[in-house]
Amino acid sequence: MEVITERAAFREACEAARADQRVVGLVPTMGALHDGHRSLLMAARTQCGFVAMTLFVNPLQFGPGEDLRTYPRMVDADLEVAAGSGCDVVFHPSVAEMYPAGEPDVTVDPGRLGTRLEGAERPGHFRGVLTVVAKLFALAGHCRGYFGEKDAQQLALIRRMVRQLDPPVEVVACPTVRERDGLAISSRNVRLSAVERAAAPVLWRALSDAEGLVRRGEHDARRVREHMAGVVGSRPLARLGYAAVVDDETWENLDRIRGPVRLLLAARFGSTRLIDNVLAVPPGSAPPASPGSPASRGDRGE
Ligand code: AMP
Repeated sequence: MEVITERAAFREACEAARADQRVVGLVPTMGALHDGHRSLLMAARTQCGFVAMTLFVNPLQFGPGEDLRTYPRMVDADLEVAAGSGCDVVFHPSVAEMYPAGEPDVTVDPGRLGTRLEGAERPGHFRGVLTVVAKLFALAGHCRGYFGEKDAQQLALIRRMVRQLDPPVEVVACPTVRERDGLAISSRNVRLSAVERAAAPVLWRALSDAEGLVRRGEHDARRVREHMAGVVGSRPLARLGYAAVVDDETWENLDRIRGPVRLLLAARFGSTRLIDNVLAVPPGSAPPASPGSPASRGDRGE
């Protein structure tokens, strides 16, 4: 496995792989790799001839009061995971290499969806995410890009960017990997104290309960939202950020559930903020194509 720190060399490595008739699989990460990242790497390894992981904690997507400085960094361990998962190349640039002229003033506007939900709680976050992902797409060139459903709003925005700006990238969505008790695996889980860790699976419980309600025919989105908020609120350690029910294609808030919906939760456990989501499909409605394959559908909202 080769570790590349310069943009030009990363571009050349991807070009050389394509010249060798290999499909490039791009797996962008911020490191502190866990089983969620591993599942993306494995999917890319199975589906592509050349796997390129990027390892870069992107300052643009962190707000002033957020955890950029303390975001977990463990490069040596990450390189071992990447090698063990069959990566061909890890692109690990410095901030100065990625943004040689300082913070870019030309950026990708995520549109209205970028200001809602996660975007409302973290202003500027999705502009930072889309800007770095656009840069990685520009460097990697024609490729498949692997992203986790764990960050469903990010995934929806990346799909929109690809649909509307036409980088030569096929987005592949990979299902959320969870701990045994349902907690979605996240690099930030290590920050939870023992009592916070014990409380955190309440997110999964609330989402699974709500998914059951929708599957059994609850059409009132307000009732589903209130149910999720009530379950999270039953744990004194959990402070709810939002509970939302959105159309899985347009990401609009709903009153009535008529097709597949995305159930979304954000909550704080002490100083650690966690997010999670699931798809819920009402009776008689066709589920969207399952994630994990290049053929899985994108969201259609503009
Ligand atoms: P991050 O390093 O947090 O920026 O995440 C890099 C990629 O891994 C993103 O596409 C995430 O959605 C994905 N990811 C993070 N956690 C999980 C998980 N538990 N299951 C599946 N994918 C994940």
